[in-house]
Amino acid sequence: MIQTNARATFSPQGPFQLTTIERRELQPHDVHIEIKYAGICHSDIHTARGDWGPVNYPLVPGHEIAGIVIQVGSDVTKFAVGDRVGVGCMVDSCGQCVNCNHGEEQYCLHGMTGTYGAIDKYGHYTQGGYSTHIVVTEAFVVSIPEGIELDAAAPLLCAGITTYSPLRRWGAAPGKKIAVIGLGGLGHMAVKLAHAMGAEVTVLSQSLKKQEDGLRLGADYFYATNDPVTFQQLAGAFDLILNTVSAEIDLNAFLSLLAVDGTLVNVGAPAEPLSVQVFSLIQNRRSFAGSMIGGIRETQEMLDFCAEHRITPEIEIVSANQIDEAWERVLASDVRYRFVIDIRTMEME
Ligand code: NAP
Ligand code: ZN
Repeated sequence: MIQTNARATFSPQGPFQLTTIERRELQPHDVHIEIKYAGICHSDIHTARGDWGPVNYPLVPGHEIAGIVIQVGSDVTKFAVGDRVGVGCMVDSCGQCVNCNHGEEQYCLHGMTGTYGAIDKYGHYTQGGYSTHIVVTEAFVVSIPEGIELDAAAPLLCAGITTYSPLRRWGAAPGKKIAVIGLGGLGHMAVKLAHAMGAEVTVLSQSLKKQEDGLRLGADYFYATNDPVTFQQLAGAFDLILNTVSAEIDLNAFLSLLAVDGTLVNVGAPAEPLSVQVFSLIQNRRSFAGSMIGGIRETQEMLDFCAEHRITPEIEIVSANQIDEAWERVLASDVRYRFVIDIRTMEME
């Protein structure tokens, strides 16, 4: 086993503590990555705090991983030592089922293996990217294109792909009117990506506090959802609404903003159930959908798209001993717009 430094939480409320975890010895298709940066996703917080179900502690979160290959297994063909690479929310899947064969490993019929909090095929409990090293089978490693710095690349591995995939699937393009609910980690990537795809983009944020940022990031319009007039002004306005909010919202109010045949896609994953009145869908023949990250092939496509269009997230670098503080700021919607842990600060301890 390979001993690795990590930051783990030992209970729902933390705090994070320095610990040592084990990574498996390299198998023929494995890539050994020295992690340079790890993004902080709201899903890390949902998971650690038990919002989505029971948790095995200690838990090392982190599924927005960017680093350098330091060793490859004997049968690895995709990567070599020194390559700049990323790992997102999954580290394995069956590779045989219809969904894996379609490049949608996130919907593997046998269940994909999460980067943390899952049991892998070796029977090990997976631990994530708030750590110095990780060993991942090459099929779940992607290349970070030249032109995207490693710190900025990290959030693309979850926030980037989770917004890119539904924008592509539901046809973000010139002539399409798209609204993004919540300007956080996912939301700000959705704005940049939808803008680059040529759509008209509106941000629906709780207040106007982030308006200047939203417009700078590529939004055409910005509205506060704490103002009831917003819902009157925008009734029936959008072809697609992407809900990135981490908490319960009044879904019916937002569904009323969809045009005929419009779709509201939920990527936010709050602990609480959301309630939909059927009439919100019947009116205007609307759809309500969900979407989970994206497949590995699509993740590489998203990275290449970001390099081509010079799209990178807005990040704030934090050190390993600032994780608890950063989490509190995420919970307070006070992140502009993604925290990224500099993993070097972990090694120095
Ligand atoms: P985040 O950075 O905290 O952003 C969430 C944003 O939602 C906030 O910035 C805030 O935007 C808005 N918001 C927060 N609380 C709210 C409330 N009570 N009412 C209305 N708006 C509120 O989180 P994130 O990392 O982007 O993740 C967002 C959600 O997506 C989480 O639930 C996460 O677990 C989920 N997620 C899902 C997938 C997937 O595959 N489907 C992947 C990654 C993450 P404003 O300040 O602009 O209002
Ligand atoms: Zn995530």
